[in-house]
Order: sequence, then C-alpha cells, then structure tokens
Amino acid sequence: MSRQVQRYLDQIRAEFSGVDAGELADYIPELARVDPDRFGVTLSSSDGYIYESGDSAVEFTIQSISKPFTYALALDRSGPEAVDAKIGVEPSGEAFNEISVDRATKRPKNPMINAGAIAAVSLVPASSPDERFALIQDYYSAFAGRRLDIDADVYASEKATGDRNRAIAYMLASFGVLDDDPDDVLDVYFRQCSLKVTTTDLARMAATLARNGVNPLTGRRVTDAAVVRRTLSVMVTCGMYDAAGDWVSAVGMPAKSGVGGGILAVLPGQLGIGTYSPLLDAKGNSVRSVLLCRRLSEELGLHFLTVARDARATLRAIYQPCDGVRVYEAHGDLLFCGAEQVVRTVDRGCEDFVVGILDVSRADDVDEAAKVLLSGMSTALHDQGKAGFIVDPDRRVIGDGSEFEQVRYRTVEDAVDAATAFIRGQRSGR
Ligand code: GLU
Repeated sequence: MSRQVQRYLDQIRAEFSGVDAGELADYIPELARVDPDRFGVTLSSSDGYIYESGDSAVEFTIQSISKPFTYALALDRSGPEAVDAKIGVEPSGEAFNEISVDRATKRPKNPMINAGAIAAVSLVPASSPDERFALIQDYYSAFAGRRLDIDADVYASEKATGDRNRAIAYMLASFGVLDDDPDDVLDVYFRQCSLKVTTTDLARMAATLARNGVNPLTGRRVTDAAVVRRTLSVMVTCGMYDAAGDWVSAVGMPAKSGVGGGILAVLPGQLGIGTYSPLLDAKGNSVRSVLLCRRLSEELGLHFLTVARDARATLRAIYQPCDGVRVYEAHGDLLFCGAEQVVRTVDRGCEDFVVGILDVSRADDVDEAAKVLLSGMSTALHDQGKAGFIVDPDRRVIGDGSEFEQVRYRTVEDAVDAATAFIRGQRSGR
C-alpha cells in the first residue's frame, strides 16, 4: 500500500514533467551543460522510508543547498555567540550574490546569501583549507548517510569565474568578518558548492533535520536540536532567495534551493523532500520543483503552520482474533504521515493474514490525505488477493455514499464475522 504513495508521487511528477519554462544557470559555465529535462523527487518519512520518482539517482551539485549545513556546522563547532557576532539572521530581500552587508552591524544579513555563507565557512575551525573542507564534507555526508564527493569540473568552473564571490569575500575581510585569507575561505566555499547529491541524498538530509538531527537511516545523531531549530529558522525566512515570502505562504516548509536546480524541504517531525530539475525561474528557483512542492504541500496538508496536532497515528493494538484475520486498532489524530505509517505497517504484515481489519472507531481527527490513503487500503489488499475491511461507525474515513461503503463495518465483531465468511468462501473456491 505504500504503492499508493508511490503512484501518487509518480503521477504528480509526470504531470509537471511537461513544464519547460525557465533557464539553466549559466553564470557558472559548467552548470549550463546539464540535461534540462532531468526531473526527480524523493520523499523520506521521518523513520527513513524512501519514495523516489524520476531522476532520483542522478547526481547534481548541491550549490546553495550547502549553506544551511555549513551554518549548522559553524554553530556546532563555534557556538551561537561566535556565529551571531559575524552573521545576522534577517531576510535580506536582496539577490543571493549581492555585494553587501547590514548597514548598521557590518555583518552579512543572513547565512543563506553568499556573503553569510562565505562567513559561515570561516567559522568552521580548522588549521588548513583542506582540513576545513574535510570537516564540511564529512558533516554533509553524515546528514546524507553516504559519502558525498566533489564534481571537479563544476568546482574548476566556479573557481575560474567566481569574481563576484571574490569581491564579497574581500569586502567581508575589510569589515573584519573574515579572519582567514579570503582566497582560502573561498576555495572551501567553491568546493562545498560542488559536492554532488541526488534527490534521495537531499531527502535524507532533510529528514535528518526533520528528526531533530538524528539521521533516520543510520540512527546517528549528527547535530543537536538547538542547532536544527536555528538552521530551520533561517531556512524559513531566507531559504528561497527573494521568493521566501511566496514560498512560506504557499508551501510552508523550511527549505533551501540551489542554482544547480535542487530544492530541499523539511516538515519538522514528519518528513524530508528532495527535488531536482535544473530549469530555474527569474528568482533562481527550480520551476518544476517549486510546482511539485506546492502541490505536495496543498494535497498532503504539509504546511508547517497547519494547526499543530499530534501527527502520529498510534496503532495501539494489533491482534489476531481468529485464523487469517488481523485487526489494526488506530487511536488519535490521523494525518498523512501517520496514515502512511499505518498502511505501511499493514502492508508489511500482509503475508500473515487473509483479511486485514483497520479499526478507526477510536481515532479522532482524520484529514483528507489520510482518508484517501486509508480508504484505498481495501483496493490495495484486494489487488494482492486479500481483503481489507474498516471499522468506522462514525464515518471518520468512509463518508456517506463512498465507493468503499461495502468494506465499512460498525463493530469489530461484524467485521470479523464478514472476514470469516470471506475466508470460508475463498477456501471453498467460490
Ligand atoms: N556556488 C554558487 C555561487 O556562489 C551558489 C549559488 C546558489 O546556488 O545560489 O554563486
């Protein structure tokens, strides 16, 4: 039944794959050489389950999506006071590569624009540029759960054409923001932007932020909750170039995009998303990725300001009232992520029963996305030669006139009787 989520993802990706608006970034010449048709998306649940669609295994350079992670590393290694002394947290409303600092403080306005990101690199304590880059590379790799490597061509291209970033770094040095040699700091910055990721890496990195710093794949704590909160906060206000306001109101997930065409988005406590499509809009955000994230947010109810409820549907009990029948009893609120875990648990156990009964009679609030997923369970089980019934006396999942009416029962006893009859019928070959 996790296939339902997979099908859904494939379907919206297919829908937007026809959009060919936007331009490839060409101010870094190597970036203009990528295939403009690439389009991939990965979704990671907070327990590390991965849904991938399209070009999810294609590597591209992380570019500005590196910025929140180096900022987090600087917070980890130098502490918030030292970082705050050099980098602000105010949205700039300026282009990402603006050669500017805050007028009053003379600090970069935030770590998501190049000035702040270059300053963040210098706040990772190290005795040489190589050591500093190694720390950064290890840190990102721990978020992704695999070793990330550099794209040497993009690095060379960026270094050869990076005069604007040089101007920014020397300006920062003149204001006393950079203590190290500006060219050394920039070299590390160019290398970090040239690290290669896939959408699945981005989704895992995002899921690690969603899990407060614990990588759900490896179980390793990469950073702590305070660093995550700080990092997500600047992503909310400054992560999407100067389209941050639009993004927050329409999509509502802390996110960061890069000129390589990637977007990483986090729904705290719930999931991580990585997308890739290299054609960019005028603000520098991937056109198809923005459309896709908007749609996911709208249809799956992912806006982080949706009134907070406990998203975890609790499967309070799973029991076998008789041979071939298994009952799954859900309590509490059922939102998309909780429902997804429920259907996956049923899916995982379906070798062991003929009829699965989902008892939602003690569930509280069930949102639209969860209703679709849960009511579709019976079809998904039917496709596998099984049956799925729902105990739903108050119609929390199956509304009046629903096509799933025939699998709805008022009590567990009724559903178990029907299940026994179903199994008997199956055995007698009817
Ligand atoms: N490496 C790019 C630069 O510094 C990153 C820009 C971006 O992705 O926004 O220009």
